[in-house]
Amino acid sequence: MSTQLKKVAILTSGGDSPGMNACIRALVRSGIYYSLEMWGVVRGYDGLIQGDYQPMDLRSVSNIINRGGTILKSARSEEFRTEAGMDKAYHQLKQRGIEALVVIGGDGSFRGAFHFSNRYDIKVIGLPGTIDNDLNGTDFTIGYDTATNTVVDCIDKIRDTADAHNRLFFIEVMGRDAGYIALHAGIAAGCEDILIPETKTSIDDLVDNLKKGRSRNKTSGLVIVAEGDEEGGAYEIARKVQAQFDGYEMKVTILGHIQRGGSPSCFDRVLASRLGVAAIEGLLEGKNRMMAGLINNQVVFTPLTQAAKNSSSLDHDLFRISKILSI
Ligand code: ATP
Repeated sequence: MSTQLKKVAILTSGGDSPGMNACIRALVRSGIYYSLEMWGVVRGYDGLIQGDYQPMDLRSVSNIINRGGTILKSARSEEFRTEAGMDKAYHQLKQRGIEALVVIGGDGSFRGAFHFSNRYDIKVIGLPGTIDNDLNGTDFTIGYDTATNTVVDCIDKIRDTADAHNRLFFIEVMGRDAGYIALHAGIAAGCEDILIPETKTSIDDLVDNLKKGRSRNKTSGLVIVAEGDEEGGAYEIARKVQAQFDGYEMKVTILGHIQRGGSPSCFDRVLASRLGVAAIEGLLEGKNRMMAGLINNQVVFTPLTQAAKNSSSLDHDLFRISKILSI
């Protein structure tokens, strides 16, 4: 491994996801293991511009592997999209002699990191930190497993009340324009129907399925709706269904930000730990403008430009299975 690199900064950017702290810990600990000086940047690219940096020693990441959110805080920065903003960020890094930056975030954060590294002599590595699982170059993003488990836990609870009152629930989950959370949680929670952006949603088909279920003596039901579905959010879809079918009392639950919080799952902690170490070792090997991800349980580096949003890799066979199992 190269011994050139001496100082590395870390930031979290975009929406927070459970496991970001485990990732910060892995970066700091492995960086120090390889004799690097590690710096944390507070509030993402805004902190990078404003000089909000803190030295990270071994103890600075104690007791965080189990915590949701991010100790470095996250932000969306309009200034970083400008040349002047990037210039300021570069000078802040240079002033401290920092030569490389690890960005934990989603595709927007990677676009920013790519442009920044293209313009200045700062190496960047991206790590996939988003609950949406919508990036190329990794089978799983950090936080997705925890968020999906949170959704399943919530739907299990909703099922109890749905059953007690013969109600049909429309449950809206996050994922932006990707349906991974809805598809996986929908199967795991045994939902009657799963509405996701990657497949065409037909209200007529949905109503038909619900009527069939009712005629087979189903007394309650659960429909999971990805927030990016083209037929609208859960309220809109419930309204459309209600206009055609009155077989159930209908209720809507928007799970919202509860999906981002909480202690990361074992899977997310291990993923974050593996990718954190990989990022530091990758930088020491001279990697630049790459994202570290996990494909078939192996760490793989993908150019940041290719790690853009990718909903097409969603497993359509899972959708077929969900149809078979919801009769
Ligand atoms: P999530 O998927 O969780 O929302 P994200 O990383 O996609 O995370 P964004 O809000 O899209 O979140 O991006 C985070 C930040 O990255 C932006 O606020 C901005 O500062 C920076 N960024 C995004 N695109 C660019 C770009 N083209 N040039 C420079 N910076 C950018």
